[in-house]
Amino acid sequence: MIVAKPKPFSEIYNMVHNYSNVLVAGCGTCVAVCLAGGEKEAGILATQLEIACKPKQPEFQSFAATVERQCDREFLELFKEYVAKVDAVVSLACGAGIQFLSDMYPKIPVFPGVDTSFIGVNEGAGVWTERCRSCNQCYLGITGGICPITMCAKSLLNGPCGGPTNGKCETSPERDCAWVKIIERLKSQSRLDILTGFTPPRDHRISESPARIVKPDYQNRFFRG
Ligand code: SF4
Ligand code: SF4
Repeated sequence: MIVAKPKPFSEIYNMVHNYSNVLVAGCGTCVAVCLAGGEKEAGILATQLEIACKPKQPEFQSFAATVERQCDREFLELFKEYVAKVDAVVSLACGAGIQFLSDMYPKIPVFPGVDTSFIGVNEGAGVWTERCRSCNQCYLGITGGICPITMCAKSLLNGPCGGPTNGKCETSPERDCAWVKIIERLKSQSRLDILTGFTPPRDHRISESPARIVKPDYQNRFFRG
């Protein structure tokens, strides 16, 4: 999932307090799960904005609406009638959703209400950790399911470096050495032999931005017209 955190309220206030009718657009998927931008957070932010803005601007109004996913055009269309009534939008989706919303309604200023942080997992109540940097060339098959790019402080593909002490990374005693964990995991699976080879450096050309994937069956449809 994409993990995000709410922007400080003062930052959001500064972006929108000069507008008079603001839609707070929630997203019901990743940012809802990480408690940053779902229906509940959108409702709270809309109320906070009204409380903060009305004293100086009595006509100020804000309201919340949430769709399942802001990274999907068919869901963004559901905002159409709301966007028609406002002069600004605060999107609580990840950076991708915010941009897609902005593309779809280019005449209305769209502001970010969250800071998109990483691709990660929910470790437990209120705790999310990064697990993937979307390198476009996944190595998990040879690293025991532990990402060397994200979890190793140096993103080493052939580790460990000379630094680990008692299983901890040389960059911090709080941080497990990813490569010690990789070796332990592979050993427990009797697969340590796969590390006898050298993993060549990443081909960064395949990670060019902005990336695009088009399924072969959809090529004609995507490029039509
Ligand atoms: S190797 Fe790591 S960064 Fe690359 S795709 Fe796999 S999990 Fe993501
Ligand atoms: S100690 Fe381990 S995790 Fe830290 S940089 Fe070296 S190999 Fe990577």
